[in-house]
Amino acid sequence: MTAKKLCETFSKSLIDDVQRWGCMKQTGVSLRYMMEFGSEPGDRNLLISAQFLHKELPIRIARRALELETLPYGLSEKPAVLKVRDWYLDSFRDLRSFSEIKDTSDEKEFTQMIKAIKVRHNNVVPMMALGVQQLKKVMNPKIVYEDLDEIHQFLDRFYMSRIGIRMLIGQHVELHNPDPPPHCVGYIHTKMSPLEVARTASEDARAICMREYGCAPDVNIYGDPSFTFPYVPTHLHLMVFELVKNSLRAVQERFVDSDKVAPPIRIIVADGIEDVTIKVSDEGGGIPRSGLSKIFTYLYSTARNPLDVDLGTADAVTMAGYGYGLPISRLYARYFGGDLQIISMEGYELRCVHAGTDAYLHLSRLGDSQEPLP
Ligand code: ATP
Ligand code: MG
Repeated sequence: MTAKKLCETFSKSLIDDVQRWGCMKQTGVSLRYMMEFGSEPGDRNLLISAQFLHKELPIRIARRALELETLPYGLSEKPAVLKVRDWYLDSFRDLRSFSEIKDTSDEKEFTQMIKAIKVRHNNVVPMMALGVQQLKKVMNPKIVYEDLDEIHQFLDRFYMSRIGIRMLIGQHVELHNPDPPPHCVGYIHTKMSPLEVARTASEDARAICMREYGCAPDVNIYGDPSFTFPYVPTHLHLMVFELVKNSLRAVQERFVDSDKVAPPIRIIVADGIEDVTIKVSDEGGGIPRSGLSKIFTYLYSTARNPLDVDLGTADAVTMAGYGYGLPISRLYARYFGGDLQIISMEGYELRCVHAGTDAYLHLSRLGDSQEPLP
């Protein structure tokens, strides 16, 4: 890796500019706002949207770039983290060197540029995970890694901000689609069926389980199939996929040597007035209380870390291993005003009742909560 110090790679004027923009106030939007604004994607609205992003994206990106410079325990100097910082600075420079957006032709060019920025940042999560891994290797082994609160809080802010930036860019780019699928406004599906998304996410998780273990417990889904609400299906898919993957793994590991049939995972979709709640329940033995406080940290996993095995496979999908599934899912839930909670009962056979884990995924149904802006 060839990452260098900030002043060797970037000019002083750029660094000053980053400092100036990194202090400016960020402006959040809500799901409802994005949906209403995007429902009339004419030239005028696209222009307004591009002008907003031209001002907003450099603020958000500069803030992250500055934070990447000041991480504790020397994390900022790790080669993978320097690489991520360079991606942020390159994107900041691209945005700042784009002159004022005055007409449709500027807008189109700007859209291509932010599309490229989104691609540049595709691998930020595995790259940061690698950086943290590089830090872990040189740290005193006595330090309990899950206890490094500052790093976990930083990663929460960093990934939350990333979700927002990608949502804004993706939403703007998608509004250019001349032939959007029915009921879709950019990334938002105005009549999303949570049951249907839960079904496809579960099938995807089961397919990975099949590949890894040769079989997969059933997933039964309960709820009103005709119920819909506006949400981003890719976000919900990701969250349910992660939860079901965890449940499948727990059940599978527990029943692998047993002659009993593995109990199915149950998903219940409840549509409340304020919230849509999706509960994923398994009978996979639960999580010990000593582990429960750590499951939302980025480094707690009871699975073998795939990064330890082969650095080249950092983006291959496996059942488990990074310890990222739960914390990232919780950020996605919180991004639109929801939350994720895990309640677990540890133990073994209680006659026919099995101990296990319940994940409660709450999604705000009203869509009017503002983006969290760390
Ligand atoms: P990945 O990043 O691939 O998801 P992971 O599954 O280890 O790796 P998380 O999804 O964040 O990471 O889960 C963290 C840990 O919490 C798991 O390693 C496991 O020990 C525990 N866990 C999570 N869900 C369950 C569950 N349903 N039953 C038992 N243990 C669970
Ligand atoms: Mg997981």
